[in-house]
Amino acid sequence: MQQPIVGYHKDEEDHWVAELACGHNQHVRHNPPWVVRDWVTTEMGRAAMLGYKLECKLCDELKC
Ligand SMILES: [Zn+2]
Repeated sequence: MQQPIVGYHKDEEDHWVAELACGHNQHVRHNPPWVVRDWVTTEMGRAAMLGYKLECKLCDELKC
């Protein structure tokens, strides 16, 4: 299920976690060269991605 990003926080390992509208959290790691998410490393980038929809696997599982 697609859920928009409503906020962010960092986990205990200093990785960024997106907070989704459904209340679930999802890691948005910037881990080049495998995962490149430059936007998450800057405040402007994160602000620009508010409202962007991510696939929430937890929602899909709970739906069953
Ligand atoms: Zn969810």
